[in-house]
Amino acid sequence: MANAIVIDGQAIAARLREHVAAAVAELRARHGVTPGLAAIIVGDDPASQIYVRNKARACAAAGIASFEHLLPADAAEPDVIALVEALDADERVDGILVQLPLPDAIDPQRVIAAIDPQKDVDGFHPLNVGWLWSQQRSLVPCTPQGCLILLKSVRADLVGAEAVVLGRSQIVGRPLAALLVAADCTVTMAHSKSRDIKAVCRRADILIAASGQPEMVTADWIKPGATVIDVGTNRIVTPDGAGRLVGDVDFASALRVAGAISPVPGGVGPMTIACLLQNTVIAACRRRGLPDPVLADR
Ligand code: NAP
Repeated sequence: MANAIVIDGQAIAARLREHVAAAVAELRARHGVTPGLAAIIVGDDPASQIYVRNKARACAAAGIASFEHLLPADAAEPDVIALVEALDADERVDGILVQLPLPDAIDPQRVIAAIDPQKDVDGFHPLNVGWLWSQQRSLVPCTPQGCLILLKSVRADLVGAEAVVLGRSQIVGRPLAALLVAADCTVTMAHSKSRDIKAVCRRADILIAASGQPEMVTADWIKPGATVIDVGTNRIVTPDGAGRLVGDVDFASALRVAGAISPVPGGVGPMTIACLLQNTVIAACRRRGLPDPVLADR
């Protein structure tokens, strides 16, 4: 029997994208500004290229200018950094994203550190990381921001809630923990070295699964009535040889225990790109000393 509310990330993301498009239109009408987002891809990974192409399409729909820079897989680190610096100086560009992972020969930290923090729409620059943890104005990483919006769509009050974040990566787990602490949750971060991880997860009123392990979280890991946000995006091969996208949560069994759950696909995924567009319009305003745009669902 299915009990849980299924959180419709597709619909929530579509609404956010409409708000972003409205803010972009207003920015253009009032200030003659068209926000711009530049993406750098190094190498010819087809998945990255599809991802960046989808971003370009989403930008166009929101009225944001997009600039794609494709570099060969053997590009040298100084060349990538020189491109970042050129985009830092380019007035048409408000947001810069560097598609990760980069080839092994390139240090992602050095490349990210070259991005102007005001244009760092992924929120990975050390200054944005520090500002987020110290609750100063920052650009917030897109996937964690999307998770929080989904969470708030079903839980108006997060104060004092017991939240467990499964995963401690720089791009998902850690920034998500910072957002949950700022929202007055009691936060536990679990990872591959945690002891009795199932018991830790079962304590959670809010469980965020970001381990990258397909369907790792089963019903017996979930406190009855908990809100579960599944960040996982794992392609598995089904017995018939076809591929299927699954999360880090075993959705079918979790549905019977959780109070609300985000599906994969159609949960966090669409939110990430919507939040990227949101960050781009925010960056465009802040760089010009304008107030942040009013975007509902933030
Ligand atoms: P990651 O960098 O590989 O980090 C995974 C984290 O999970 C690590 O902290 C790791 O612990 C922990 N972990 C791995 N196996 C574990 C286990 N068996 N028990 C407990 N903890 C375990 O992954 P990520 O980049 O954060 O991404 C996580 C998932 O989210 C992936 O499926 C990814 O595809 C997905 N994702 C989705 C979006 C989206 O837009 N929907 C965006 C980003 C990522 P240690 O630190 O101890 O190694």
